[in-house]
Amino acid sequence: MLNSDSPIWRPYTQMKTAAPPLNVIKGEGIWLELDDGRRIMDCISSWWVTIHGHAHPAIAETLYRQAQQLEQVIFAGFTHEPAEQLARKLLTHVPASLTRVFFSDNGSTAVEVALKMACQYWHNGGEPRSRFISFEGGYHGETIGAMSVGKSSPWWQAFQSLLFETDMVPFPATFDGDEQVEAKESETLDKIEFLLKQGHHAGIVIEPLIQGAAGMRMCRPQFLQALAQLARQFGVLLIYDEVMTGFGRTGSLFACLKSATAPDILCLSKGLSGGCLPLSVTLATDAIYEAFYSNDATKALYHGHTYTGNPLACATGLTSLELLEQHPQGFQDMETHHRRYLVQYLQGHPKLEHLRTCGTIAAMEVKTDGTDGYFNAIAPILKAKFLDAGFLIRPLGNTIYLMPPYCITTDELESIYRVIRQILDNL
Ligand SMILES: *Cc1c(COP(=O)(O)O)cnc(C)c1O
Repeated sequence: MLNSDSPIWRPYTQMKTAAPPLNVIKGEGIWLELDDGRRIMDCISSWWVTIHGHAHPAIAETLYRQAQQLEQVIFAGFTHEPAEQLARKLLTHVPASLTRVFFSDNGSTAVEVALKMACQYWHNGGEPRSRFISFEGGYHGETIGAMSVGKSSPWWQAFQSLLFETDMVPFPATFDGDEQVEAKESETLDKIEFLLKQGHHAGIVIEPLIQGAAGMRMCRPQFLQALAQLARQFGVLLIYDEVMTGFGRTGSLFACLKSATAPDILCLSKGLSGGCLPLSVTLATDAIYEAFYSNDATKALYHGHTYTGNPLACATGLTSLELLEQHPQGFQDMETHHRRYLVQYLQGHPKLEHLRTCGTIAAMEVKTDGTDGYFNAIAPILKAKFLDAGFLIRPLGNTIYLMPPYCITTDELESIYRVIRQILDNL
């Protein structure tokens, strides 16, 4: 029914070869219900946003009330309670040095704002700088600036000529039992120090603790501590893209808390509205804010989107944050369960390597004849097998990862590991 007669051009989809999309008629908790009556377990929180599960009653209630009160208003010259309250509440949960909240409406623009903020911070200070240090494998979104700091992505080949230059360094990705981790970290830190000594960088951009789209590549908190130390020492801005890692994903509310580091700029989006509506924020320190604060109109940050600070999205964000405050065990305890089932079902499996967990996320590579990476041919095969078994799991190339909503029960989580084991055994 939704096959080739649909006019819709889908994201990240080769329209010619992709299977027809599944028609979802209802979402409830971790479950998606299809028009043919099947139920699919959403093991990846629908592209990493659905932190409390689908159609959460408290979020639905908030949305209904807010829609009757105020659905949208221009955000220049006007404000509203949902945005004010959400901004204040957010600031109680991040490092105290972050004091300012700039709203936009998706993760890519949160990063785009961060880059522009950093660039204009130096410009306004009379010492223009626009060169960034970024990480191999980094993914920061779909816009030109965000693609530029995520330039190594296999997806951006056609756009390379549009992207600005950065200094790219290796990401010290690690996994259980990795003996090379310290060597990898010092190699990267040495490279960064060498670059910083040459001067004139505006900032360093990183997905802290976990590079998401690159295949859930994880680094240690120790590495971030050393990185933050270098940024301080050389006076360049540290930018954390926590669009994916934010709101409990790493087992702490934010990766900066888990790693005990404080960035100068922090980008948040995916889980911000509880997976309900598009919304994002870019948080900044007083020092950055002050560089824009002036009688000179040209020193203002000229960035804003039509739907900036949408009241419906802000209201759901507030409710989502309250839910996280009320039920922190959902994200705090999941790593223990992941570890237990990884050991019980998958550890030592001949077809797997590089098992790893961080908070609510578990990941591993399937050994194949092909090269590791997004275009590994195993991905569509595994995805189809998981779907047939009733599980939404979308491997990134030969990387299988789990990122369930926090409301998943331990039995449900165990059932995912059981099915991965079965499918691997029969591969
Ligand atoms: C998803 C993601 C983005 C982009 O967010 P969108 O809302 O899809 O634009 C940016 N950075 C990271 C780390 C992400 O995971």
